[in-house]
Amino acid sequence: MRPHDYEAIVLATMDYGESDRIVTFFTREQGKIRAIARHGKKSGKRFGAVLETFSRTGISVVVKGGLSSLRSAETVSVYPGIRANLEKIGYAGYVCEVIDRFLPEGLASPRLFRLLLTYLEYLDSFPPLADDRRFFEVNLLNILGYRLPVEQCGRCGSNFSPGTAIIRHTTAGELLCGACCRSGRPVAVGTLQLLAAALETGRFGVIRFGPESLTAAGAILDGAIAEHLTRPLNSLTFLRKVVGVCC
Ligand SMILES: [Zn+2]
Repeated sequence: MRPHDYEAIVLATMDYGESDRIVTFFTREQGKIRAIARHGKKSGKRFGAVLETFSRTGISVVVKGGLSSLRSAETVSVYPGIRANLEKIGYAGYVCEVIDRFLPEGLASPRLFRLLLTYLEYLDSFPPLADDRRFFEVNLLNILGYRLPVEQCGRCGSNFSPGTAIIRHTTAGELLCGACCRSGRPVAVGTLQLLAAALETGRFGVIRFGPESLTAAGAILDGAIAEHLTRPLNSLTFLRKVVGVCC
């Protein structure tokens, strides 16, 4: 079988046997591909940093159902600016794990690939901020078909507007009007407007939430993401405990 060339970002890696490594790539062309890298074990020199999580690479792969076979890989960027900062490593590892967990194998998503790529490029050069993580998350959910209903109640469909008396969110990240939800945490219209703006704006670094909206947006997005996953994200534990990121 002939190998095919792809542009890829490494989502996850795992040593396998004595010298091999299994790598999960997110390719622009084919979505997620799991491939075995012969003699690619972490301690080995054949592939080096090319196969580290969140590296951007050009790969040549023989694609098979199940486990593909990596023939060669060339570094495009290992994002040295991210690797020099523990908090940035935490954020980059988190977004890679989120995509790995949400995206089934073989489903191409050029928009999601572009979102991840632009986030890594941005993070490589600018300070790590929770605002940008939330910007990534709200757009990720939108691309995957789980768009937050920031304009109207998720249950009765009534429009949220500056005149809406009460908007609340549930622990599952649902956004509901006061009539449909009496026990959730209140959400300011301004927070929803910022989330809506994050969906409209295609650039990282533009949306800044402010402390209160950041906390509220974080609770909504954490709930919405957890709702779609069967078990907690390992990288989230790292972000919270090791890096000290709380929202
Ligand atoms: Zn309602």
